[in-house]
Amino acid sequence: MKIRSPIVSVLGHVDHGKTTLLDYIRGSTVADREAGGITQHIGATEIPIDTINEICGEFISKLAIKDTIPGLFFVDTPGHAAFTSLRKRGGALADLAILIVDINEGFKPQTYEAINILKMYKTPFIVVANKIDRLFGWETHEGASFMESYNKQAPRIKSDLDLKIYELMGKLHEEGFQSERFDHVTDFASQISIVPICAKSGEGVIELIALLLGLAQQYLTQQLEISEDAPAKGTVLEVKEEVGLGITVDSIIYDGVIRDGDEIALMDANNVVTTKIRSILRPLPLEEMRDSKNKFKKVDEVVAAAGIKIAAPNLDDVVSGSPLRVLSDQEDVEAELLKELEDITVDTDDEGILVKADTLGSLEAVVHLLKEMDLPIRSAEIGDISKRDVINASIAMDENEEYGVIIAFNVKVHPKAEDDLKNSGVKLFAGDVIYQITEDYEAWIEERKEAQKKQWLDAIIKPAKIMILPKLIFRQSKPAICGIEVEAGTIKTGYSLMDANGDYVGVVASMEDKGETLQAMPRGQRVAMAINDAVAGKDFEEGDSLYVDIPEKHFKVLEREFKDKLTEDEFLALDEIVEIKRKRDSDWGKLGLFEY
Ligand code: GDP
Repeated sequence: MKIRSPIVSVLGHVDHGKTTLLDYIRGSTVADREAGGITQHIGATEIPIDTINEICGEFISKLAIKDTIPGLFFVDTPGHAAFTSLRKRGGALADLAILIVDINEGFKPQTYEAINILKMYKTPFIVVANKIDRLFGWETHEGASFMESYNKQAPRIKSDLDLKIYELMGKLHEEGFQSERFDHVTDFASQISIVPICAKSGEGVIELIALLLGLAQQYLTQQLEISEDAPAKGTVLEVKEEVGLGITVDSIIYDGVIRDGDEIALMDANNVVTTKIRSILRPLPLEEMRDSKNKFKKVDEVVAAAGIKIAAPNLDDVVSGSPLRVLSDQEDVEAELLKELEDITVDTDDEGILVKADTLGSLEAVVHLLKEMDLPIRSAEIGDISKRDVINASIAMDENEEYGVIIAFNVKVHPKAEDDLKNSGVKLFAGDVIYQITEDYEAWIEERKEAQKKQWLDAIIKPAKIMILPKLIFRQSKPAICGIEVEAGTIKTGYSLMDANGDYVGVVASMEDKGETLQAMPRGQRVAMAINDAVAGKDFEEGDSLYVDIPEKHFKVLEREFKDKLTEDEFLALDEIVEIKRKRDSDWGKLGLFEY
């Protein structure tokens, strides 16, 4: 058994300093050649323990860390897209994460997203409060430890920084985490450490590296145990074409050993792909790369943890985030990989929305978050949005309009599918922040519900009351025409009228005011009204009040859904109408047990 280096990812909102921090770590350790510098991998940088001891020795001795861990293995591509792509079965590939927050900006959308993802994978992390040099009046001390630099600052600046750290602690608390500035942490298992740093000057980076090491040493050694001669397990970082090599896969090996000539199994979007390794490549050391046409050197074997490029036939359709296994017992591995894909994609509902994502890992994360929101998913696949996806979403839309939706993470619409998408009415929610996409989707659902409610409300016959004005009966019948005043609500053509006893009077045929025909007339207005079926003097008299005859069904919907939408006068008219109706039928409009 061997202990491998823990794999570390850097996450955080755009521009908060992920790349700068990784560059600083690489740059400062490269410069420290005597201590062994760094090991360059494909897609990753490893800092050996000797180098770490050299640059953070004093701080490490304070933490009383025993060095059983060979180093720290930093994934070079920062961000949560890379983090989720780099997955292994049942979790994230990264053993540890750094969540970087610009101390002056605080939490931003992608910060929350990163926290959600870290929670989901239960990945231990350290929060880095970056850009402390931007605090007004901060005096920079290149490469110093945080404590050293902090102690040299003016009291006002110290309290400024303390305040910002408090704010971060508050935000983390809202997300369910206890946290402290790293030097106040009493229990690393239950509290998140916050390390203030400046990624540009390197202040605080010493403590950050020492803490990563300490955390790994204390809590991760079991998960870092590997067997040096077991068939390797890894994850595909990227599928790339290289001049002279053809299609290659960059991958990170996290367990076992991989050798030139090994048979390996990987995944395309739907199936297992097996192939035989033609060559295993690592980057040339930086100084040799300058004089060489090649960027890579061939190696016979590597042991985890390692970032390598693999050249082999048959890699064209392999997807990023695919698992990689050295084959020992072919059938077992194939079944295992297929099951893994199935766990992510096939556990879907009969009806629901469509999900597309760029890698197996991001697909897994999106599906997980959507399921947490109780959203039914009809299908979940890797790849850009195709014509077929649009057709499938249209079919889903025919069944239920809310499911005519494609949720797309980090993928594009295929040019051939663009027109179809526009014409289909299928809604696309796309982006590279998962929770922004889901928020937009939820807002859309809410908007639709409101619009639908309004449509219903508009279609419902609402209460109104009119009075036949004295001396203004213009015509007796066929239709009866008379002057009226609207006493409550809004009267509309087509409404049925009844008198105060609930007897049918007639139907509003038309309304006219100063030669203009009107469809609806609100309270307080006077108009000439033609009433079909009615005979003036028989069905109604001058001065009578007439009411809208609301169908029982409409009344029930009003009662259940829209009571709060009625105006006060509509409400009063409704009371009178119900009283009239119930004089004849005492159960009229009462909601049954199942109608609430
Ligand atoms: P990323 O998008 O998270 O990878 O952020 P970058 O590393 O690209 O940084 C974004 C910008 O912030 C760049 O202009 C950096 O130079 C700047 N930056 C990063 N870290 C610091 C820092 O500690 N102090 C200051 N003043 N600027 C920083």
